[in-house]
Amino acid sequence: MTGGTRMTVVLGHVVTPTASDPGGFLDIASGAVAYADGTILDVGDATDILTRYRGALVEDHGDRFIVPGFVDAHVHYPQIGMIASPGLELLDWLERFTFPAEARFADDSHADRVADFFTDQLVDNGVTTACVYATVHPGSADALFRHARAKNLRIITGKVCMDRGAPDHLLDTPSSAVEDSVALLEKWHGVGRLEYAITPRFAPTSSDAQLAALGELAASYPDVVVQTHLSENTAEIERVRMLFPGTRDYTDVYDRAGLVRRRAVFGHGVHLSERELRRLGQAEASVAHCPTSNFFLGSGMFGVARAQSIEGLRVGLGSDVGAGTSLSPLVTLGAAYQASRMLGAPLDGGRLLRLATLGGAEALGVDESVGSLEHGKDADLVILDPFGPQNSAVLRHRVDGAETLEEVLFAVMMLGDERAVARTVVAGV
Ligand SMILES: [Zn+2]
Repeated sequence: MTGGTRMTVVLGHVVTPTASDPGGFLDIASGAVAYADGTILDVGDATDILTRYRGALVEDHGDRFIVPGFVDAHVHYPQIGMIASPGLELLDWLERFTFPAEARFADDSHADRVADFFTDQLVDNGVTTACVYATVHPGSADALFRHARAKNLRIITGKVCMDRGAPDHLLDTPSSAVEDSVALLEKWHGVGRLEYAITPRFAPTSSDAQLAALGELAASYPDVVVQTHLSENTAEIERVRMLFPGTRDYTDVYDRAGLVRRRAVFGHGVHLSERELRRLGQAEASVAHCPTSNFFLGSGMFGVARAQSIEGLRVGLGSDVGAGTSLSPLVTLGAAYQASRMLGAPLDGGRLLRLATLGGAEALGVDESVGSLEHGKDADLVILDPFGPQNSAVLRHRVDGAETLEEVLFAVMMLGDERAVARTVVAGV
């Protein structure tokens, strides 16, 4: 599937970070994006584009914003049914709520239903690219790949690997983890816009032998994404210290297994030391910042500005549902602002938007294809409408009185949610 073949021109207020001009931003009030066959042909002034692409199908969105499809760099689709499970910190929350919810994915029909619902929700929230955890069951990853393929979403996912520290019925082994991962990878990696991710849940649920086996697997597939959790919560860090004596720190546990590299996406990184941040940067690895989750579980706050100052380190935004409280990147960005404000280095609207688009694409290593509205990239677009009656009255009232783009962008991140997403164009459809 390559998306719609008809040449289309979408008119509106184009707002996008640019990869061709690092740190740059395009803001065209009377703008247009032209695309065909699922790929962006041109972005620019509406009059110019309409002249150049005569005969194209025209969609006029007036003063609504056209922004890149959002990138969710860290989310657990099997946890969508247990979102908003309160009261506990990470390790107890996993045992009490998460593992029972994930156990239900032994049933393929359950996985199928949830994967269908989850992928629909991504589209409704404007998310066109996501790096997703399945469960330990290979069928759970298979179900997500199927539904992502049918909806042509850019999904990177993998079966979770864990061989200890969880109920027996949720455990695999070092060898079965590798065999099941390879089978899924060979079946789905590179099919349409799908990619496989080697997915150890986190160090406390993988033995040394399993991490080493997954490191060997990663070495056989040097361009494949690796995703796991890192330095989220202080009790978790202490558990890792007990389980892996002789390692320098949490990052070193993954490093020794060969799992710290480009396209290794580490969820959270809240409590990383300077050494760990620099090591991740040196390896050109990535951190997925998951602020609603960090607040919800009381894990702490990740310093985005500090991390972005580390050479080589990529930073994206993750909803981390079900510890995160919303699939909406707008809601997650509101929390990212609050975390940045608490840490004394507040992010502005432009930097926030970048985090949820091009920043996420860079973190996942897919920035040549998505993350910004530029020639040759996938036609993944979100029409953002903070002015329409579907939004809260307070958001509409706030943006009615706004005088600058920055004011409106910031307001929609602080006050908006999926209701502000008027339309999501997925690979031109
Ligand atoms: Zn997570």
